[in-house]
Amino acid sequence: GKVAKKLAKGSNLKIDQAAVIGAGIMGGGVAYQSAFRGIPAVMKDINQDALDLGINEADKLLAKKVRQGRMSEEKKAEILSTITPTLEDKDLNGTQVIVEAVVENPEVKAKVLADLEDHIGEGGVLVSNTSTISITRLAKNLKRPDKFAGMHFFNPVHAMPLVEIIRGEETSDETIADVVAYSLALGKKPIVVNDCPAFLVNRVLFPYFRAYELLIRDGLDMYRIDKVMETWGWPMGPAYLSDVCGIDTIRHCQDVLATDLPDRMSLVEPSVMDALYQQKRFGQKTDTGFFSYQ
Ligand code: NAD
Repeated sequence: GKVAKKLAKGSNLKIDQAAVIGAGIMGGGVAYQSAFRGIPAVMKDINQDALDLGINEADKLLAKKVRQGRMSEEKKAEILSTITPTLEDKDLNGTQVIVEAVVENPEVKAKVLADLEDHIGEGGVLVSNTSTISITRLAKNLKRPDKFAGMHFFNPVHAMPLVEIIRGEETSDETIADVVAYSLALGKKPIVVNDCPAFLVNRVLFPYFRAYELLIRDGLDMYRIDKVMETWGWPMGPAYLSDVCGIDTIRHCQDVLATDLPDRMSLVEPSVMDALYQQKRFGQKTDTGFFSYQ
């Protein structure tokens, strides 16, 4: 806490408006959290359905607070009105923090990030919510790599305190200070980490998913492993966690890691994640993954 507050003192950025690119699980969550904490958020996607879903999720979270008597209807409406869904890049203009949260694909992200640079407001910063891709690598085609960092939120964004802030080779101290300040404004607990594929938390989580896949390959019942982990006391087991994260996203992350950390993170074959992925059973987002949510 103290370290983060001290770092944030180095920031001179006044954040009047943030933006998220990608209105999915993570982008939608960051837009909600920003609006909830009083920072208006533009939410951009290429798909109108994703924007509708993003607004819907924010509405549900706020409606729960109203039901619990913790928020008025007026306040709820006011907060919702500060999330601006859009399909147009021009609506991003003048934003001080842009959070990229599109699909976990290095080529797609590199292109999206390069396009975004032109829309950042004076002195503003660009961050990526990538789970696994090196920030230095993503910065390669940027004009201002000093103004770029990783800002890795956890799912669900509104409930998870931790945010990893990743310093790429060219990220400036000022940019780190700005991103720490934004994290604190969102009510989060930031830690600053050096750059490498998967950063810190996902170097713990992805070997866990991999170990789980190896156990299934060895013939263990995939649902019993979840039961054991829950009985141990973990809030959920690996199968349920995969459904929450999105099996498509996990598969994309595994591909990045198999390439970038090959001696630690080679693909498991046959892979239960891949079997579900091929069947488009992506978890809660498609109503079916390891479990069914219909
Ligand atoms: P998601 O599939 O829920 O959402 C991705 C969204 O990006 C979709 O709505 C899609 O339409 C949109 N999109 C794709 N290309 C776009 C473009 N060019 N411009 C604008 N929007 C575009 O995925 P997610 O789970 O929100 O993951 C997003 C990012 O966050 C990924 O990099 C992922 O690795 C990372 N992340 C995910 C989790 C998690 O638990 N799901 C946790 C931390 C980080």
